[in-house]
Amino acid sequence: MILKVLLVLGVISIVYFMFIKKKPASIETNTKAKKADDIQADDMVECSTCGVYSEVSESLLSGAKYYCSKECIEKAV
Ligand SMILES: [Zn+2]
Repeated sequence: MILKVLLVLGVISIVYFMFIKKKPASIETNTKAKKADDIQADDMVECSTCGVYSEVSESLLSGAKYYCSKECIEKAV
């Protein structure tokens, strides 16, 4: 009976240990991905037409290039 309890506890602790060991890694990658997103959102990108730098969140993405305004997209086309 005691052996069985110890066995169950052992299995639980092994699973628990693996879970705890695995979790920080996934959290780290999540925060890293989030950080990368944050940096991208605040990143300064150059307008492909006029060369003005503006934040990614404020600039317009057309194709694979960033533009500061609709006028610049029209100029580029
Ligand atoms: Zn521009």
